[in-house]
Amino acid sequence: MNTETHQFQAEVRQLLDIVINALYSDREIFVRELVSNASDALEKLRLKQLTDSNIYQPDKPLEITVTTDKENKTITIADTGIGMTEADLVENLGTIAHSGTKKFMEALKQKQEGGADLIGQFGVGFYSSFMVADRVEVFTHSYEPEAASLRWSSDGREGYSIETLAEPLDRGTRIVIRLKDEYEEFSQEYRVKELLRRYSNFVGFPLNFNGERVNTVQAIWSKSKSDVKPEEYDEFYQFIAHTDEKPLSYMHFSADAPIALNALLFIPRRNPEMFGFGRVDANVALYCKRVLIDAKPEGLLPEWLRFLNGVVDSEDLPLNISREMLQDNSLVRKISDIITKRFIKHLEKLAKDDQETYREFYAQFSRYLKEGVVTSWPNKESLGKLLRFESTATEPGETTSFEDYVTRMKEGQTAIYALTGPPVPIWKTARTWKPSRPAAMKWPSSRTTGTNSCWTPCPAWTESPSR
Ligand code: ADP
Ligand code: MG
Repeated sequence: MNTETHQFQAEVRQLLDIVINALYSDREIFVRELVSNASDALEKLRLKQLTDSNIYQPDKPLEITVTTDKENKTITIADTGIGMTEADLVENLGTIAHSGTKKFMEALKQKQEGGADLIGQFGVGFYSSFMVADRVEVFTHSYEPEAASLRWSSDGREGYSIETLAEPLDRGTRIVIRLKDEYEEFSQEYRVKELLRRYSNFVGFPLNFNGERVNTVQAIWSKSKSDVKPEEYDEFYQFIAHTDEKPLSYMHFSADAPIALNALLFIPRRNPEMFGFGRVDANVALYCKRVLIDAKPEGLLPEWLRFLNGVVDSEDLPLNISREMLQDNSLVRKISDIITKRFIKHLEKLAKDDQETYREFYAQFSRYLKEGVVTSWPNKESLGKLLRFESTATEPGETTSFEDYVTRMKEGQTAIYALTGPPVPIWKTARTWKPSRPAAMKWPSSRTTGTNSCWTPCPAWTESPSR
């Protein structure tokens, strides 16, 4: 048995000093960081297995195990992944290797003092464990059969030791966090369970906590469409939307370029805003490689899409991106544009191929489309084409699109006349609703200039039913 002591790189010492002493409130993020490291390590092993047949303990299942010990005030995060050799430990846990931490240090240099507020913005990966720990121990055995069994240990101050163990360890990495008294909450089962459910529900490998499987629902958004059954979509929707109902429709797509993206969006059967519950927030969560970044990211989707439920996952996003950074992140804006365009396409397809469903959708959500026409300049043309109105040429209850309307226009017709007025909200018909006096309005249009002039924002579209 031999033990070697090492000094942390100067930058790491500086970082740890801030991490340990900072008055930072979101210390719980260390759990998410360590679980995602475990998941990365398993992913790396899975890739290795494809090309390398010489793997230590090849039959060991790929999984993550989290345990808490209230008596000893510890929390342990273990994986059966790629593991680390001594050189890996020195490189990965003794220097600042990864990009998020590097950015943190760069931002820190720009600042004169403090830096605690930066922790949340950049995340500090593995080192975040020292926010709650007196001592962190890393037991590890690399996937290489001849590698040593090692114990890395540090109090997060000057340096760390690496000990070669006589007893062979299983493949992978086990991180034992010895909690400071004031953070013993992280050795409490209820506290950690809640954290794992929140951040790690869809981690791609089995995640067990104190003997119980946590992530029972699969991250179907990252599967290929042909591998997901319709009932799996329904179940997934019911899970994320907390409902017994099935979705009205869903859109599942993935892209590799320009951004690696998986998205799964559901249209509910009912518009909650229609029942007077007030404005809803989109329930579309943002993930990076199946680990939650933000359950309700602002600016991920345009306002008019706030009726959607679902998940967007991009591995191009840094895991530890903060709320503030999300809002003015150009990547997020690009993701938003891509998804919005794809969703409009989805609606176009629905309107064409499944008119019954489109009609149901329209009855519930048409006002969001109209909101989109007037608020979303780049999409107003395509959204305008999705609008439907009753007309003198349709039967009561039937509707027409502008496209159809134009085909019926008489030679020389230069205007569409529209009668505006709020639709009668069903729940108000009985008692309180009084129609405002309908107003006839001239709606300029012409065959020769195409339909462009129709898309001018016009009171008929902006007027919302009185609630
Ligand atoms: P990042 O995950 O962004 O690379 P971290 O600070 O979280 O940065 O981790 C630093 C490095 O330590 C990782 O890149 C990885 O090489 C190594 N590491 C951390 N946890 C594990 C683990 N459970 N198994 C194997 N390697 C790990
Ligand atoms: Mg990490």
